[in-house]
Amino acid sequence: MTRSIAHRTGVRGGVSVVVLAAVVSGFGSTAAAQAASGDLDARIVKLVASVSEERLGAILKKLESFETRNTLSSTSSTTRGVGAARQWIFDEMRRYSPRLLVSFDTYQLPPQGRITRPVELRNVMAILPGRSPRRIYVSGHYDTVARPGGQGASNASGAAPAGAPDPDAPAARPADPNAPLDNLAPGVNDDGSGTALTMELARVFGESGLEFEATLVFMCHAGEEQGLVGARLHAQKAAAEQIPIEAVLNNDIVGGDRGGNGIIDGATIRVYAEGPEDSGSRELARFVQRWGGRYVPSHRVRPMARPDRFGRGGDHSAYNQLGFTAVGFRESRENFTRQHDVRDTFEGISLPYLAQNARVNAAAAATLAFAPPPPNVLSERNQPLITRAPTGYDANLKWTASPGAAAYRIFWRDAWGPDWQHELLVGGVTNVVLPNMQIDDYVFGVAAVDANGHESFVTAYVTPPRTSTPIKTVGQ
Ligand SMILES: [Zn+2]
Repeated sequence: MTRSIAHRTGVRGGVSVVVLAAVVSGFGSTAAAQAASGDLDARIVKLVASVSEERLGAILKKLESFETRNTLSSTSSTTRGVGAARQWIFDEMRRYSPRLLVSFDTYQLPPQGRITRPVELRNVMAILPGRSPRRIYVSGHYDTVARPGGQGASNASGAAPAGAPDPDAPAARPADPNAPLDNLAPGVNDDGSGTALTMELARVFGESGLEFEATLVFMCHAGEEQGLVGARLHAQKAAAEQIPIEAVLNNDIVGGDRGGNGIIDGATIRVYAEGPEDSGSRELARFVQRWGGRYVPSHRVRPMARPDRFGRGGDHSAYNQLGFTAVGFRESRENFTRQHDVRDTFEGISLPYLAQNARVNAAAAATLAFAPPPPNVLSERNQPLITRAPTGYDANLKWTASPGAAAYRIFWRDAWGPDWQHELLVGGVTNVVLPNMQIDDYVFGVAAVDANGHESFVTAYVTPPRTSTPIKTVGQ
């Protein structure tokens, strides 16, 4: 009752509806809309520029010095193994800034799947609190693995790549199941690169003095090589405790510009995003392309409309599986002989390339953390708020106001094709009518924009999948 009155009042008063044909000349006339012009924010420019190749290199060399960071390796040494490594990551991030809340995210695990002995698994996380509890993650995994022959041998063997490997498949039983797995596993690219990127951004954001709207989390996962274990545990906890994770930017193998086949590409980065079409993760990938491309125009973001590479997995998928929006950054040209192998050393890294990937992450994370949350476009009955009213031939878009939004930006494209083709900034309204636009022929979406032009990722209007009920026939 209350809702329908409010709705009618809004429409009758003409306050919350913009009919485009009628008000085109009025666009951008409000201060909010003018401010939200999409110009770069000088603070983000500075943040992006403060990513340091030297620091990334120093972190990688230190990570390499632990010789192995395997989740199943020894924890007794202060200089070698996973125990020493995680303590160093913890101490280092705590040193960066008193504003960073650094903690271990700890779990006691019995043997299961590729966890062959009881272990204490610790993700290392640094939280930069924002005004809102909603969270933006930048992540990597600090654990490593090396097997005889590494990934190069398993690729070249032609073992069926289709379908992800079963993360719960039991590992070959070691002679002594309780012995730590202490073989050399330097993991400088897999995933020292994602870890260094995450730590460097913790420093840059922590030292910036900037106050963000969203809470930023710089997360170094463990147990990735045993089946995304640390990320799955953290995502499970977040789901159970209803922690509002808005977006995860996961980085795994992002430091090499030299493919094993000799092809070099230091100017692009792949961003994998699980579907279906116009899922939150796909919108996040488009967002990284749009805003990474604006703040770091010398680096090209290549969104990939699939969960990950064939037969390979990463921590972003652990979040996707529990319904969170998450994408996976992957270097464009991989050298498989340096993965899961003793040859994954500092020599395989290009610091200028890793720094560019860090800058793209910084631009995307900072823009998201300043911006309002993406608008909700679903009704209470989970139906997209898009109709053909008022004439029956129009595109009528509604959404729920996002806290802190001064304006909204509408996006659309032909219903065939991956990239937004058109965009239009509208004011602080929650309803727009595009006359004579057939909603069946386009994909529509809307992003929330604050008074300084910081934009959320887009929420698209998509039809939820229909459930099928069997048709009865006579006699059934
Ligand atoms: Zn990895």
